[in-house]
Amino acid sequence: MPRDFLKGAKDEYDVIVIGSGLGGLTAANVLGRAGYSVLLLEQHYKLGGMATWFKRSGGHIFDISLHGFPYGMIKSCRRYWTQEIADSIVQLKAIRFDNPMFSLTTTYDRKSFTELLTTKFGVAQETVNEFFDAARGMNFYDDQSMTTGALFNKFFPGRADVHRLLMEPIVYANGSTLEDPAITYGIVFSNFMSKGVYTFEGGTDRLVQLMEQDLKKNGVDIRIRSDVEKINVANGRVQSVTVNGRTIKARSVVSNANLKLTTLRLLDEHVLDKKFLEDARAVRLNNSSTQVYMALKPDEQIDESTGDLFFTSTAKEFKTELLLSRDVTSRTYSFYYPRTRPDGRPRTLIVSSTNAHYEDWASLREDEYEASKTELIEGTLDHLDGYIPNIRERLAHVEAATPLTFKHYTQHVAGASFGTKFEGLAVSRSLPDQVTGLYHAGSVGIIMSGWLGAINYGVIVANDVDALLMKQARAATQPVTT
Ligand SMILES: Cc1cc2nc3c(=O)[nH]c(=O)nc-3n(C[C@H](O)[C@H](O)[C@H](O)COP(=O)(O)OP(=O)(O)OC[C@H]3O[C@@H](n4cnc5c(N)ncnc54)[C@H](O)[C@@H]3O)c2cc1C
Repeated sequence: MPRDFLKGAKDEYDVIVIGSGLGGLTAANVLGRAGYSVLLLEQHYKLGGMATWFKRSGGHIFDISLHGFPYGMIKSCRRYWTQEIADSIVQLKAIRFDNPMFSLTTTYDRKSFTELLTTKFGVAQETVNEFFDAARGMNFYDDQSMTTGALFNKFFPGRADVHRLLMEPIVYANGSTLEDPAITYGIVFSNFMSKGVYTFEGGTDRLVQLMEQDLKKNGVDIRIRSDVEKINVANGRVQSVTVNGRTIKARSVVSNANLKLTTLRLLDEHVLDKKFLEDARAVRLNNSSTQVYMALKPDEQIDESTGDLFFTSTAKEFKTELLLSRDVTSRTYSFYYPRTRPDGRPRTLIVSSTNAHYEDWASLREDEYEASKTELIEGTLDHLDGYIPNIRERLAHVEAATPLTFKHYTQHVAGASFGTKFEGLAVSRSLPDQVTGLYHAGSVGIIMSGWLGAINYGVIVANDVDALLMKQARAATQPVTT
């Protein structure tokens, strides 16, 4: 008989959270800590969503999305998780760039960038200051008509090299483009510029393990291999979810699944009004990624001057289409030295990431798909050999992931690495107006994605749920007047 992953689960909870990405985990933790009964349902056999890892024989542990996040993670993890998690966040000090326009190393913060822009790129100090202040002054409610490209042209007209320096890491960090609203750039860029790029010491496996411990301490009922098929609604209110053949009731449901999957598949269309449905259908997905995972032989080491994050490109110019093309010209390498997992076996790993279109991979026949993966690996090794000589001989293991891999493990439509484009935020936020008690907390709109964005969005939505449940509780205790 198949194992019952819902064995012992109650028939009713205050809140059900669908999905254990960083947004879902955080919403569940905040609500559990506030005293609500919370059921966390994850379809995969592991928690974390895109924040995940895998192991290969020989003591190699690969992180999928632990490349870098802003300093703000420390505060969010201290407040909504634990001091131990916050204390494990450490800076990545060597961020390198190498492309036909420039080669440099930076700590990727305002001080270092100001110095680079004024000395190496010859931009006036005043212009640099004005640009930083403009980016830092941006917030959600600003005019969205200005694009990032237009913002760059305003401050640095005709300076393709400066545009590249400013944009390349952000494209990588959240999939945004020169054509997206400037606020999506300004907010994320300023987050990084405040103090640089950070990582989690101990790896994603340790982070998720610590999070699981805290969730359990806060009474959250965690169930893996629990694939929610339906969110059930009656009279405009969320009632329950259907999962593994069971119907479990809840006063509120938070979906951390992809926004399009939540609105267009988990819900019946007739519970949503026409305009909302049109808007949900029109939401564009963010792009996906390919990755090549490389583990060095145990006795092989790389000098740490190679950098922590290394943005490389062979393209003469910086163009969004080139970053996504299967004809790869841009690769971002993350180097994981033994210090990444100080308590683990001393291993050095390299992950090469490149943004990609889902369709370019999904349209391939099986044999073409396998051949393309091999091509991706070989192309990456040829390229990396220019920086780390004899890389092929020094490797113990190499393999690749494609947009199909990300879709397979997280059910993200088209394997989107960063959820949806900016218009997804309005749809996500207005879901409770369509169905009382139903919320979405997951990667949308660039700002609400990435590790920090997803965590912070989980907190925002948990507060919304708390406000609703408190209001309902107050209403239930009000004396009935005639
Ligand atoms: C290759 C790659 C590199 C990245 N690099 C970085 C980086 O360097 N820095 C950074 O900050 N961010 C990075 N990101 C992005 C970051 O990992 C994500 O934005 C973030 O982890 C997403 O969190 P989320 O809360 O939106 O949920 P997700 O991680 O999208 O998780 C959603 C969860 O819902 C589950 N689910 C879906 N449907 C159902 C269902 N029906 N029933 C039950 N469960 C369901 C899924 O299995 C999944 O666990 C990267 C992402 C990728 C793919």
